[in-house]
Amino acid sequence: MLLDLRTIYLAGAITCMILGFVQLFAYATGRFERWPLWWGVSNLLIGLGLIGVGLRDVIPDIVSIPLANTVSWIGYLLVLFGVRSFAGRPARLPLYILAAAAAAVPLFLWNEPDGFVRRVVLVSILVMVCDALLVREGLLLWRRERLVSGAILAALFAPTVVLFALRAWLAAIGELGAELFPAENSNPWFAATGTTFVLLRSSALLLLAAERSRNTLVTLAQHDPLTGAMNRSGLERAMSQLAADAGKRPTRVALLLIDIDHFKNLNDTHGHAAGDRILQLFAEAARSELRASDILARHGGDEFVVALPHMTTREAVHVANRIRAAFGRALADWDGVPLQPTLSVGVAEGNAASDRLEALLQHADEALYRSKRLGRDRVQVQIRALAK
Ligand code: GH3
Ligand code: MG
Repeated sequence: MLLDLRTIYLAGAITCMILGFVQLFAYATGRFERWPLWWGVSNLLIGLGLIGVGLRDVIPDIVSIPLANTVSWIGYLLVLFGVRSFAGRPARLPLYILAAAAAAVPLFLWNEPDGFVRRVVLVSILVMVCDALLVREGLLLWRRERLVSGAILAALFAPTVVLFALRAWLAAIGELGAELFPAENSNPWFAATGTTFVLLRSSALLLLAAERSRNTLVTLAQHDPLTGAMNRSGLERAMSQLAADAGKRPTRVALLLIDIDHFKNLNDTHGHAAGDRILQLFAEAARSELRASDILARHGGDEFVVALPHMTTREAVHVANRIRAAFGRALADWDGVPLQPTLSVGVAEGNAASDRLEALLQHADEALYRSKRLGRDRVQVQIRALAK
């Protein structure tokens, strides 16, 4: 099949610029923070650079060779800069300026036609390194934030690492010829594949921003804004996940239902703001005593639920007492109220795979009620076994 290199570059350039405008439009909607701004500008620069390269021999060499390549290269660097700042990783500006100069200076020095091979080797190696760093950033985002779009990003940048390595090597051994648009071009597929990937990756960048926004919304919808604990909807989802992970295997789960004693009194005496702070102190104290796999949820008002997978009632009682002690310490360190509220706790145990959350909560509630009736500031256990 006949592939016309100049057309590939120019079509790629136009698409790149359209994608750049789309990303800038996404930024202008105010829904994506500032990442699409970096990526949009980067696409515009890559597109402009590609136009310059595509017009080689039509426009002056100084524009189509060093200037066009430098502009494209700055566009590439901006993708890296944007992804790193998206990931909250340090983006040191002097390093980027140095990287831009590392391409610009030799490109301007090797402006003459017979510098073609050196230029191709240099630009290919730089782009290869930049893409390899982006693969790493994508994988880190996937691992740290569980962003699937991070893996997609890595998958879309990985092929160009190989492609540009191959291009640098072929140029170095003289396989790419000595000019960009020779009459007989043997490797138009390089340009076609490279341009396609450059275009495809733009969507991965927008996916990153969209996936993170979605995750933030899901987190907000499933958490209590005051304490950061899960809300009822988050608790239900986490318990369903626990049941799904258990499958048909019996999986022990202990449930603590914790209520702050005489909280209404405290609110009435010291004000709602003091009450709010106590709720936060409780959540922090509870979290400090829990494992990463444990679940902390605000059941409503001053009542919290803690789900402890794979724990017996005896171990759960131990955890409940540790939380009571941690809460006491947190209150002692805080000079907000002279009166220090205590905790009443009800404990129930069941099977995550077969017991419904409502049934577990009901049993924990019965135990909590007993704690309150017996004088509060204590832990009581639900004795009745749940149906297996
Ligand atoms: P008991 O020892 O029997 O648990 O008594 P209590 O006063 O803690 O019980 P009750 O459940 O009647 O009181 C809960 C109070 O929690 C009632 C309500 O004013 C208060 N409350 C509910 N949500 C919030 C909140 O978000 N912030 C604050 N400050 N108070 C809240
Ligand atoms: Mg209470």
